[in-house]
Amino acid sequence: MTIRLLGTGAADGIPALYSETELSRFAREHGGKDVRTRAAAVIDDTLKIDFGPDTLAQIQRERLDARDWSAVIFTHSDADHLAMSELQYALFPFNEFEYAGFTIYANPTICAMIEEAYPLWPFDLQRTHSFECFRHAEYTITPISAFHKPEEDAHNLIVSDGASTFLYATDTGIWEKPTWSYLDGVRLDGLIIECTDGFAPTTYDGHLDLRECLDVVTQLREMGTLKPGAPVVTTHHSHNGMATHAQLEEALAPYAIEPGYDGMVVTVKPL
Ligand SMILES: [Zn+2]
Repeated sequence: MTIRLLGTGAADGIPALYSETELSRFAREHGGKDVRTRAAAVIDDTLKIDFGPDTLAQIQRERLDARDWSAVIFTHSDADHLAMSELQYALFPFNEFEYAGFTIYANPTICAMIEEAYPLWPFDLQRTHSFECFRHAEYTITPISAFHKPEEDAHNLIVSDGASTFLYATDTGIWEKPTWSYLDGVRLDGLIIECTDGFAPTTYDGHLDLRECLDVVTQLREMGTLKPGAPVVTTHHSHNGMATHAQLEEALAPYAIEPGYDGMVVTVKPL
């Protein structure tokens, strides 16, 4: 499978709006891998994960066609992952389509929000629940419970194509016991994991800083969940994390982890 990282920034991106952090200043000046749009990904260019406010800019940058996406799978309802009003462009009168050409898989909170916003629009909505797998085309997707947004069933996503399996874990926090227990029975050929707070830990426990990210990866390796040689790539970096891409590379290299960047394509193979 290929995982194309369309965005690797946290909620406010890098450089962020109205941001005077050193990292935002550095990114404005240097551009390149330090410019991060809101976190999103697409698997094999057909399964879209999240639909945030930078989706249009991301497909324009990568020259992708949203009509190739047969599914949009949401992790949770935060505004950097769900830009509700962007969904309207899938249908008439913005084009000639009477039906959206994709299925939306989302937790009950998000499904209710979409139904309320577009009560008469014929979206194919499928409700998802943590630890209940579902199939789409040749893929099996298993949402697991993130420790991120207690008022809804926030997901991280295990995706398998029958040959290889990876976990997309943006907005994780430190998982609670049921998630660790579930992961004990999973074998991963790849991992995309958040490193939101970088070098600047915060008191908010719904995200990981660099030390916590390393702890989670180490534990997954020790459990045997993450197979030896499985690629590990970070995402969802905040401008408040004070870590440039080059600094992340240096800090993560000893742990065989790569910092993600916008446009990066990660290939996951059976190990
Ligand atoms: Zn987020």
